[in-house]
Amino acid sequence: MSFCTAINCMDGRIQLLVIPFLQTRFKAEFVDCITEPGPVRVFDQTTDPAMLKSILTRIDISVNHHGSSQIAVCAHPDCSGNPVEDEVQKAQLKKATAFLKETYPAVTVAGFWIESNQQPQEYC
Ligand SMILES: [Zn+2]
Repeated sequence: MSFCTAINCMDGRIQLLVIPFLQTRFKAEFVDCITEPGPVRVFDQTTDPAMLKSILTRIDISVNHHGSSQIAVCAHPDCSGNPVEDEVQKAQLKKATAFLKETYPAVTVAGFWIESNQQPQEYC
């Protein structure tokens, strides 16, 4: 069994796009989904450290117990959980990806931008 990890918005539309995409992109049988409303905002220094800890605890389970070696961080336009400009979200996506690369040096981490009804695009 092979797993990868998605840090994704709770938005159901985005999950439907992300899961099959990552199965192919990361050649993984299963996608562990860590969902929050607009999770990239959590990696900004102004947001809730308890939420960040909760996300990291779930990544640890995916990496240490399921052997995931690839993490996707996802963001999308018109996010109800993170109602800021696309450019702000993209900066947060970059920051989240850089943070996770540093936290999990043995794991591949990539950031994806996901427009509605489109193939997710690797952003960073
Ligand atoms: Zn969202």
